[in-house]
Amino acid sequence: MVSSLFINPFSEDAREIVRNYGSPDTIFEASSVLLDTVKRTRGQNLDDNSLLPGSIGDLAIKRVEWYLQRQRRGFDHGDYAYLMNPGIKEYDVIAFYVLAQAAGAGFRRGSREVRLVVESTGALVEDRFRVLGSERDEIIEEVLIELGSEGTSWMELSELIGSGKLRLTDLILHRGRVVIDEDEFLMTFQDLITDRDPRSLYAALVGLELKETMISRIIMQRTEDYIARVSEMSSTVEPHPIILETAERIRETVNEVTSFRGGPVKSAGPGKLVPDAFPPCIRGTLDGVKSGNRNDAIVLLLTSFISYARLYPSVFRDRTPLKVSDLDPDLRVIREEILPIIYEAAERCEPPLFEDDPQEKLNITAKLGFGVHDEPEPEHEGESKWYTPMSCEKIKIHLPDLCRPDDLCRRITNPLTYYNRKRWELHRGKSEQEGED
Ligand code: SF4
Repeated sequence: MVSSLFINPFSEDAREIVRNYGSPDTIFEASSVLLDTVKRTRGQNLDDNSLLPGSIGDLAIKRVEWYLQRQRRGFDHGDYAYLMNPGIKEYDVIAFYVLAQAAGAGFRRGSREVRLVVESTGALVEDRFRVLGSERDEIIEEVLIELGSEGTSWMELSELIGSGKLRLTDLILHRGRVVIDEDEFLMTFQDLITDRDPRSLYAALVGLELKETMISRIIMQRTEDYIARVSEMSSTVEPHPIILETAERIRETVNEVTSFRGGPVKSAGPGKLVPDAFPPCIRGTLDGVKSGNRNDAIVLLLTSFISYARLYPSVFRDRTPLKVSDLDPDLRVIREEILPIIYEAAERCEPPLFEDDPQEKLNITAKLGFGVHDEPEPEHEGESKWYTPMSCEKIKIHLPDLCRPDDLCRRITNPLTYYNRKRWELHRGKSEQEGED
């Protein structure tokens, strides 16, 4: 039977392991038992030693590296198969705490590195559930009890809901309490369910997926809280040098994997805007829009178009959701280039957008993924979604006055695709002309 340790680093057993381990002095010392377990993992690639963690410290870094690599093209599961091997559980629990302490001691709240540690923890939980096989149900029930989520009030989950980690609409509620358990669901609702089998309805509505999502989100929230506590303590107690060294290695790993220079990185990274390649609807919006279409044109259309065109024009091709800070870590491009373009277009509207709708500035920040705030700040990133540009179909419905299609429009379905195509054509035209000259 797989232990719940493999999933839940906040169980009493997990804490006991960490207490018994004591000082982090030895976390970068080679462990032959860990390395043997890693090498014996089915499907693990063994032809490159740098893929194999030889110590708990290495394992901690590999957790983040795995998360970054799995978002890239050409990711090979065999490079990190050991992360799905329950045999590493004791080492993995200590690696988790080393990682979380390094994140708290070495990085500010809301930083990209803290976010990656939290997100990688949630992603590992979700992927590990998939390899549990017949033991999955039992482990899920065990972890739910360990996390104390049975009979939880939705108010207790308000932080998760508020931060967008869990959607209220995903939960089954009865008198304010979240119904997770099958027996409780049947007792509560079976008299009301007349047109189908209550058990199959439970499986469809609650089922394993919701339970797994809840577990992963609760563990992410607790990881975030733990990191925040470590961060607070670090201001009064000097962190252990090994923890600071781990933080440095996290920084190096994140920079190495996400760097847009050299190496097998994703296709189109941030680049200068090419206004000549803007589609007619965007050019019309930049010239200023009259009341009526004005708010949606600036907040929904222009904000998403300009931000993606400048930072992540290949989003539809790569299909990898990124956050603004993955591409613009210090938010300099957002603050100094993207927002001024949006604000100036808002100013050119009739009447100027912020004069009678000042709250739209908050909505622009929200559409960039930084929640409802005056300006994008790193600590708020993730409170909302970074919206991708709406399709031509939606623009024709909601902003019909702005859609004045030209020839190229016939071959595309989104203004961002127009931009990429036109940019490529302009570039090709320039190269041909240079060739002729
Ligand atoms: S077809 Fe699409 S890209 Fe062209 S103007 Fe209309 S909305 Fe813009």
